[in-house]
Amino acid sequence: MFDYVIAGAGFAGAVVAERMARVFDKKVLIVDRRPHVAGNAYDHYDAAGILVHKYGPHIFHTNSSEVFQYLSMFTEWHSYTHRVLAHVDKKLVPIPINLDTLKLLYGLNLNPAQMTEYLASVAEKREPVLTSEDVVLNSVGRDLYEKMFRGYTRKQWGLDPSELDSSVLARIPVRTNHDDRYFGDTYQCMPLHGYTSMFGNMLDHKNITVVLGTDYRDVIRSVRYRELVYTGPIDEFFDYKFGKLPYRSLEFRHETHDVAQYQINSVINYPNEHAYTRVTEFKHLTGQTHRKTSIVFEYPKGEGDPYYPIPRPQNAALYRSYESLASGTPDVHFVGRLATYKYYNMDQVVAQALTLCARLHGVNRRELLENTNSTSQVFLKAS
Ligand code: FAD
Ligand code: UDP
Repeated sequence: MFDYVIAGAGFAGAVVAERMARVFDKKVLIVDRRPHVAGNAYDHYDAAGILVHKYGPHIFHTNSSEVFQYLSMFTEWHSYTHRVLAHVDKKLVPIPINLDTLKLLYGLNLNPAQMTEYLASVAEKREPVLTSEDVVLNSVGRDLYEKMFRGYTRKQWGLDPSELDSSVLARIPVRTNHDDRYFGDTYQCMPLHGYTSMFGNMLDHKNITVVLGTDYRDVIRSVRYRELVYTGPIDEFFDYKFGKLPYRSLEFRHETHDVAQYQINSVINYPNEHAYTRVTEFKHLTGQTHRKTSIVFEYPKGEGDPYYPIPRPQNAALYRSYESLASGTPDVHFVGRLATYKYYNMDQVVAQALTLCARLHGVNRRELLENTNSTSQVFLKAS
């Protein structure tokens, strides 16, 4: 008899499995239909022996010391600060937009105050700010919008920024200094031995049984269990009763090249050229040294594995219909990016899963993580 069956062994499922087993001594069966754990964060050594991310680059970043401390029980870290270059007007320029972006694109040599003034002079004021187009025009104006954001967004989402919630493009800040970090978060790092290895440590417990390559529906017919934790797409759970919730998909083209370095930066974005959005070279992320190098191209698609909930009002309304069905199933708990239809980063999914565990057992987050500090070894290994 299992206390919990968990559908999905990504961040959401693995965190719940780990806390339920270690803190509450619950018997857990975690099932994934893919042949591996770690969900979209899955990484592995490719044929050349290079650590690659099967489902595109995953960079861990968070402002939550709680989430960082929690994951640090299961991994050491490789210190890595993510930077991204965008190929615009035949130049490689920093994104988020900063002083150097304006210098490279327009030959403008500005100080921070002058940059603020410049942006105010080119911005198109929008009131209220509802869409992603509003957000960008409001802060940097039309030319930078066209150069850096419009084409990329149309490729990535199959929609114009004017059709997407403001939250999508609000993810990208604008900086009036030389800071070229992609994320401003306190903690930015990569699991030293990779995500899959970290998940292995999370799930390595006598109370946890892992079944891979299997749909949870095939398992629950034959096992006895008390409650279900579901981390797959919520519309699929309810047999698309209200119709399909739109998710954006991607196709990944992985290549290995017989050179030590393919490009000068880990990620190069292509807002206005090519069918792909970006190219990632993994060794820059992981710090691995190797005489060859592996890269991945990302081609956005409408059909295929669901990767991104699409933030726009009509989708939120459809999700709310499914959410109200979910609230009528007290023995099933919905958590994670697909099951709660939220455009969450990894750390947000970890936090959401920890909150669920605390709620299910009537403890607060501090009590849930009480044994975190005693057993954790938190240290950053310099690259
Ligand atoms: P998932 O990782 O999708 O896991 C859900 C699992 O459930 C899947 O493995 C699936 O196979 C399984 N499942 C579904 N249905 C069933 C079923 N019926 N039976 C059994 N199993 C089932 N976040 C960051 O913080 N930083 C990044 O740099 C970053 N980069 C990203 C890049 C890309 C290309 C993508 C797509 C996402 C990125 N993310 C990033 C987001 C990150 O991937 C997610 O926040 C996180 O992986 C979500 O975890 P999850 O457990 O909710 O979902
Ligand atoms: N974006 C863009 N140009 C870029 C990078 C991002 O227009 O060079 C937009 C695009 O719509 C993207 C969104 O900003 O989906 C959020 O980018 P982020 O890097 O946060 O997306 P992620 O890859 O993490 O989902």
